[in-house]
Amino acid sequence: MSLSGQYDGNNIFAKIIRGEIPAVKIYEDEAVLAFMDVFPQSKGHCLVISKTAEARNLLEIDGQALGAVMVTVQNLAKAVTTALNPDGLVITQFNGALAGQTVFHLHFHIIPRYDGVALAGHGHGTMADMADLKALAAQISAAL
Ligand code: 5GP
Repeated sequence: MSLSGQYDGNNIFAKIIRGEIPAVKIYEDEAVLAFMDVFPQSKGHCLVISKTAEARNLLEIDGQALGAVMVTVQNLAKAVTTALNPDGLVITQFNGALAGQTVFHLHFHIIPRYDGVALAGHGHGTMADMADLKALAAQISAAL
């Protein structure tokens, strides 16, 4: 999907927001949702999305909604650091299929890095064990 186009209200993250498919949630308020990536590139890989903006990418979201998302990205980055003690954190966000985007509802990745541990591939990793994801989400949310 290119940079121009229409928002598809049936994308996976829209369905998660509406509760139509499950997600391991870490934090939620009226504006944003943070949840575990089900194909994590590293231990603690999580995602932050807007619940109000029908934006496929960074170019389409209004500033107020983006502000709420970014405050949560920072809060979550701090909580991941407290909870999991990584050696580094990668924050990524892809715009358009050519750039690597696979789900077309704007989202930010928080990907902890651990010394000596390679990242799993983006968008084609192994599906995580749900019990492991729930335990990580509980650790991270306790640090928020
Ligand atoms: P993108 O490639 O668009 O930047 O990132 C999409 C992310 O969503 C990927 O990291 C992928 O692992 C994750 N993902 C894909 N499907 C699901 C799903 O059904 N649930 C969750 N929690 N994450 C998903």
